[in-house]
Amino acid sequence: MQNTLHASAEFSGVGLHSGAACRIVVRPAAPDTGIVFRRCDLQPQDGAGKQALLIDAAPENVVSANHGTTLANAHGATAATVEHLMAAFALCSIDNVLVELHGPEIPILDGSAAPFVSEFRKIGVNAQNKPRREIVIDDALQVTDGDRSLRFDPANEFSLDLSIDFEDCLIGRQSICVHMDEPDIQERLAKSRTFCRRHEVESLRRSGLIRGGSLENSLVVDGARLLNGERLRDPHEFALHKALDLIGDLYLLGAPIRGAITAEKPGHDLNVRAAQALARRVRKPDAAAAPVAATA
Ligand SMILES: [Zn+2]
Repeated sequence: MQNTLHASAEFSGVGLHSGAACRIVVRPAAPDTGIVFRRCDLQPQDGAGKQALLIDAAPENVVSANHGTTLANAHGATAATVEHLMAAFALCSIDNVLVELHGPEIPILDGSAAPFVSEFRKIGVNAQNKPRREIVIDDALQVTDGDRSLRFDPANEFSLDLSIDFEDCLIGRQSICVHMDEPDIQERLAKSRTFCRRHEVESLRRSGLIRGGSLENSLVVDGARLLNGERLRDPHEFALHKALDLIGDLYLLGAPIRGAITAEKPGHDLNVRAAQALARRVRKPDAAAAPVAATA
């Protein structure tokens, strides 16, 4: 059955890219609502109703996949850096919630999904009176960009084989296999943190990104060194975080995937392209009339 949160949850902190102070309240919602964001800090423009502040979590609403996933509706209201929160909903099997945003971006917290997941587990989820959907991969699908790729194949259950390859020898080539019935895998995914490479920091800042980035919310790698002065939470933390981002981006589809995923050097751009391609496959005929915003 579909699930919602038993009660509301609240999180506050800085936005990774905007640097803005952001507070969100995640509220229970009725069956078939899906994940919906509402910008409570904005007023509707040009006589538009309150609907203009609602942003559906859906692949076609992604307007940027540049170092984070940003959604927007047809009226231009945005919700930035939704991927770790979306991954927490996926890991906790939460289908229906309203996420009220008092700012432009989901707070980055410690750079992982663990604060969301532990709060959701503490509050608990309620089963609702409608069956849960799932996205069944019945035909292979692949999206590529040079030597990077994401492939989906039919399988009886969800699995994810993911590899990354970085010059920094602290990261190097890492591969992980994710099967959701593996003990600890959800915890390992949830606690894996955002990372970047030291030489990228300046150019990211110049392009207006990571204004809220710090050693408290991002791992910074320089060759063989971690600049954070602490240890990794997992020997495969980098690959696990890429898997977390992928799981969060794919959950924009609004249902878990039944299929085998093979990911080679994935990133938000590929993740979102794959989610959009899968959404086009499963779209019901009547959904064509739904309002959609520009596509990334
Ligand atoms: Zn991430």
